[in-house]
Amino acid sequence: MSSNGSAPLTKEQILAAVEPIVEPTTNQTLGELKLVKDVIIGGNAVQLKIEMLSPMNATKERLERDIRAAVAQVSGVREVTVTWTTRIRASGGGRTDAQPIQGVKNTIAVASGKGGVGKSTVAVNLAVALAQEGAKVGLLDTDVYGPSVPLMVGENAKPLMRNNKIIPLEAHGVKVMSIGFILDPQKALIWRGPLVAQLINQFLNDVTWGDLDYLVLDLPPGTGDVQLTLVQKIPISGAVIVTTPQEVALADAVKGLKMFEEVKTPVLGIVENMSGFICPGCGERYDIFGAGGGKRTAEEHGVELLGQIPIEPGIREGGDTGKPMVATAPDSVTGQAFHHLAERVANKLAVEAVRKPRKPTIMLKTVG
Ligand code: ADP
Repeated sequence: MSSNGSAPLTKEQILAAVEPIVEPTTNQTLGELKLVKDVIIGGNAVQLKIEMLSPMNATKERLERDIRAAVAQVSGVREVTVTWTTRIRASGGGRTDAQPIQGVKNTIAVASGKGGVGKSTVAVNLAVALAQEGAKVGLLDTDVYGPSVPLMVGENAKPLMRNNKIIPLEAHGVKVMSIGFILDPQKALIWRGPLVAQLINQFLNDVTWGDLDYLVLDLPPGTGDVQLTLVQKIPISGAVIVTTPQEVALADAVKGLKMFEEVKTPVLGIVENMSGFICPGCGERYDIFGAGGGKRTAEEHGVELLGQIPIEPGIREGGDTGKPMVATAPDSVTGQAFHHLAERVANKLAVEAVRKPRKPTIMLKTVG
């Protein structure tokens, strides 16, 4: 008998109340996803341990409300405590023939149809934002033309070798490697797709990344031979395409979408960078490169608009000095925009990771 004289609470009663609750990012139930890790009952008090699929906290609040409401309905419950753990799951991505990278759960390719749209800026801020939420993150800068990573760690910094493996450097909580550490940008023009792919594969496999939840890859700009070879050879869980709102940039972004479709790699969505300028003096918004293009393109091609990043002098200053805005001004409008982007990316990968397995294509014959 419990302290109020009724039958004691059971774990089964509590599970029956919480397992049908829908986890908002995946639309699957806590039961289906096996996210209820522990139920401890002490008299009228219930303690639940819930596992999160992504490091971002936005869904936690809603989930906690739903859990509390459901458990409160169970007669005899007086007190509910919810504790949280996070386990980021590996999402397979589209290709099955590309060799997975040991210890890396998710590889995110940041791509753009052309240079100068802010692809490296997005890659760096995305990686740092994910790390700020507690995820284990790596960043591989394969863009020889815009050495964003060398700037982050100081241009003269060089990674060390140990037992024939390269040890990545670290900046803002992210393990970083750059093709710029070893390749002279002046000579980069002569590099051809297969050679670059071979070099990058070496970077993926000969670098001691350790266990990573996310490896962010800053791809070289464009959709030519180099990029196509890369996206074919590297196991990519999902791609993020960066564009500016102008028509020319959008047309190139569509080429990027098509390239990933061709190699059956999921496109997580589009980021519209340099999306309006908010006047620091008057607060008025000016759409210097036009408005709504990223959203329209995303809608037309059935992909998500993952974020809109304003034109912000702090981004350029931070980029030039290797100090990403998400680290220097996390609470600014721009810092928050990068955080929302990281949240969407993490959630989309979580959805990919728990996607119900497709029906097997090989049917086993029953004997007899
Ligand atoms: P990409 O990788 O596409 O070539 P970068 O990320 O190197 O582009 O950005 C090109 C330049 O534009 C850099 O100097 C960067 O700091 C600046 N930049 C990128 N995004 C913004 C933005 N939203 N506001 C202001 N400057 C930006």
